[in-house]
Amino acid sequence: MRFAIIGAGMSGILAAIKLREAGYDDFALYEKAARLGGTWRENTYPGIACDVPSHLYSYSFEPNPEWSHHFSPGEEIYRYFEGVARKHGVESRIRFGAEVVRCEWRGGRWQLETAHGLRDAVDVVIAATGVLHHPNVPDFPGAASFAGVLFHSARWDHSARLDGARVGVIGTGSTATQITSAVVPRAARYSLFQRTAQWIMPQANPAYTDEERAEFRRNPAGIAAMRAGMSQIFSDGFSSAVIDASSPQMTMIEETCRQNLESSVRDPLLREKLRPSYRAACKRLVISPDFYQAIQQPNAELVTSPIERIEPKGVRTADGRLHELDVLVLATGFRADRFMRPTQVIGEGALSLETAWVERPIAYLSISIPGFPNLFMLNGPNGPVGNFSLIEVAELQMGYVLKLVELLRDRRARAIAPSASATAAFDEARTVAAKNSIWSTGCKSWYLDQRGIPASWPWTFDRFRGEMAQPRLEAYVTAG
Ligand code: NAP
Repeated sequence: MRFAIIGAGMSGILAAIKLREAGYDDFALYEKAARLGGTWRENTYPGIACDVPSHLYSYSFEPNPEWSHHFSPGEEIYRYFEGVARKHGVESRIRFGAEVVRCEWRGGRWQLETAHGLRDAVDVVIAATGVLHHPNVPDFPGAASFAGVLFHSARWDHSARLDGARVGVIGTGSTATQITSAVVPRAARYSLFQRTAQWIMPQANPAYTDEERAEFRRNPAGIAAMRAGMSQIFSDGFSSAVIDASSPQMTMIEETCRQNLESSVRDPLLREKLRPSYRAACKRLVISPDFYQAIQQPNAELVTSPIERIEPKGVRTADGRLHELDVLVLATGFRADRFMRPTQVIGEGALSLETAWVERPIAYLSISIPGFPNLFMLNGPNGPVGNFSLIEVAELQMGYVLKLVELLRDRRARAIAPSASATAAFDEARTVAAKNSIWSTGCKSWYLDQRGIPASWPWTFDRFRGEMAQPRLEAYVTAG
């Protein structure tokens, strides 16, 4: 069997390693960029780090005793993936600069075409194309007239001078918060344009000591045990809390955020501007040890008057003020409903993915789509994207995909796709359960689909682990 993996980020690298380990060596990994690394290649903004603990945000089979911090910086995470890919011989299998623009199911195989006209025919496609990778660039009037430097946070212009500059950042999500902590100490003036306030969960980030790292090196089993412990704490704590808005764990999280705001922000006016009008974790919870400290510095300003337009000299807000700027960063998030798109995907009976997903992206157990046989997604729609380490999610999903692939290998099926009825039943149950989650309690966020219903996995992580343990074959349509 021949495979194509699309995307050489965290999930694509994982897929390549696991395919080989399972004895499938005939595959190509297509990557649109010139380097691997996915989100960690594209996001290089100052202050970038992962707010999932380093030892949990690592592959289970590649523990890393060298993590510098409990929550490691982006550059270090990028180097980790690069190192793992090299060690497992994945890099040499990647076709760089090869954007897959079309995948068509024809004659019982997937026919692939890249932007440069490269063609391939494979039995199985694994789409490891990421979740948050299409920048959301709002159409601010006058943006083209800005005389300074303007860019999206995921397209950071490293030639822009920040030291001693007047820097503006639009947005208050996890990205803007990390940028704020890193850039306030460098900028002459810093303006944070807030449309909606965010709850901030405080989280210290100590460095690992040399002694701790030496101990990790001596005892990799210790890392594995620590990772399992972290996973369980996450599972029992945060991920169980967010799916049940009335849970006592949720109340604790809210109280911690409220106390963080009360005890960290001295000026009562600023405190009220920073106080959200919705419940903590309704939007993706922002985790930061020092955002409140940064925004209270004398050179920093929280701007809450709505943005009216962008002018050559800066940002004009509705109160008539012009905020003069040299650099303007759009930390305005991503279009979270894209997944494999804009790749044109044509399944059975000429069904296009655009048509199948005309209302919203739907996938059975977040992995596969009716009418698109032998096409499997890692971190596809409706997975536990908002409440768990995406690495652990992808590892579990890849294990599940390999079990489906065994059916093809053993010739028990030639093509395998979920049935429309199983997918509809899954989607219906998911929609009902999502109404109990904290994400449904009255805020706007990228977790919500076009109907305003959370698109994330609304059950426990243990349930997800259980589902991933063994495919229920009755949910699939197989061609013999
Ligand atoms: P985001 O959470 O979607 O936040 C986008 C921000 O831009 C929001 O504050 C939004 O305001 C604002 N915005 C969007 N359009 C606007 C407009 N037209 N005018 C004014 N403001 C506008 O994006 P993000 O901060 O890049 O984070 C995305 C996700 O990436 C996170 O939720 C997280 O899952 C992930 N992430 C993770 C880490 C980590 O440490 N693991 C770090 C960074 C990002 P509203 O709230 O009013 O819509």
